[in-house]
Parts: sequence; C-alpha cells; structure tokens
Amino acid sequence: MEQLIVAIDGPAGSGKTTIARNVAIMLDMLYLDTGAMYRTVAYAALKDGVDVSDFDKITQVFENNTFDFKYCEKKKKMQVFLNEEELVNEIRTDDVEVAVSDVARNGIVRERLVALQRKISKKEKRVILDGRDIGTVVFPDADVKIFLTAKPEERARRRLKDKKLPESEIKIVMKDLLRRDKIDSERAIGPLKQAEDAILIDTTELILEEVINKVKELIIAKK
Ligand code: C5P
Repeated sequence: MEQLIVAIDGPAGSGKTTIARNVAIMLDMLYLDTGAMYRTVAYAALKDGVDVSDFDKITQVFENNTFDFKYCEKKKKMQVFLNEEELVNEIRTDDVEVAVSDVARNGIVRERLVALQRKISKKEKRVILDGRDIGTVVFPDADVKIFLTAKPEERARRRLKDKKLPESEIKIVMKDLLRRDKIDSERAIGPLKQAEDAILIDTTELILEEVINKVKELIIAKK
C-alpha cells in the first residue's frame, strides 16, 4: 500500500493542531495529535503523584495505567483514553502544561509513544501528524514536511484567544510557551528542530485560512 505521510512540526502555540486537524478533514486523512499523547502521559503522572523529573519513576506510569489513542472518524478528531476514560480538557490544564515537557524529555516515554505513533500510522493510507520530532525522528522519510512557526507575541496572543484569557496575561502565557520551547529544543532525544528538508511557514502575518490553503496545496502537489 502506498502511503502518504505529512509531518507538521513547530514550537508551542504555532497553530499546528488547528491546521493539521482542518487539513486532515478537508483531505480525508487520519490525524494524529502527538502532543495530546505526551499530555496524557503527563496527566497520568500527575494523577499518580509521580515526580515528573524522576526519570526512572516514569516507567511506573506505564505499568500502572492503560493508554489508548485513536482517531475518531465520526467526530473527526483524535481521542485519548486513560484507563478507558476519555480525556478532553483534562490534558489542556496549566498543571499539565507545566509538567509535559519534563515528561517528554524522558527516553522511555519517547520510545513508547514514537512506536505507537508509527504503529497507528502504518494502518492508514494517508496520515497527518503534528508534533516536535515528526519530520526528524518519527517519520524522517515523510512525503511532506512542514515547520510551522510564528513570533512568540503572536503565538501568545493566539493562545490567549483559545483559552479565553484576558490580554493582561500575555506575558505569563508567552513565558510558558518559551519555557516549553527551551526544554523541547534542548533535550537530548527527539528535540524540537526543523528537519533540513522541511518547508518553513512563518504564520505571524497570515490568517488561519491562508495557512490551511498553503499546507493543503503542498500536500495536493505530492499526491
Ligand atoms: O503540541 P502540544 O503543545 O500539545 O505538545 C505538548 C508537549 O508535548 C510539548 O511541549 C512537548 O514537550 C511534547 N511533545 C513532544 N514531541 C511531540 C509532540 C509533543 O515532545 N512529537
């Protein structure tokens, strides 16, 4: 079976999830939000009271819980399950956002989630994945590689809007995005980095529809 794999990477708040999901719906592709997978493991670690900076303890989180990640064709969205319960807003809290990059630095966590990402993708003909290491580690041979970015102020502004927070919180939001980017870029395994052959799209001056169209065109040109 000939597969088409689209990798979208980029820093926190660059709009990867919204773009990838919309394009996947338009082009009838499977969409994997790999950030949601790392967030689910972080949520489980917090729930179990595991110190996320303790590298060895993280394995306990896998031993004590069951995880399931799938794309719901009907709802056209990626779903994450912890011990058979679906998590939605639980993985988008401040606590999870503070912990997730430490959890994602862990080699065992990355090994397990990368293996799952490949396994889920293998079953499908056309897949879009968004994350930090998709074009570099998960699918270095992806057919289309895109690196989405935007100026930190703009990313923070969009995040405020998504979370319905007041303008006065922009500095706090920006600080959190930059803190996560720093940990994600500096880690030893699967760091946030633009693949050499990825197409860079700076979305600072673009509206959502323009970015969606650009990404769609790149994929259609490969099909
Ligand atoms: O994309 P999102 O903001 O939901 O990702 C949450 C966190 O998950 C990132 O800050 C990063 O630490 C981790 N992540 C990762 N590799 C990926 C996707 C996400 O390390 N492929």
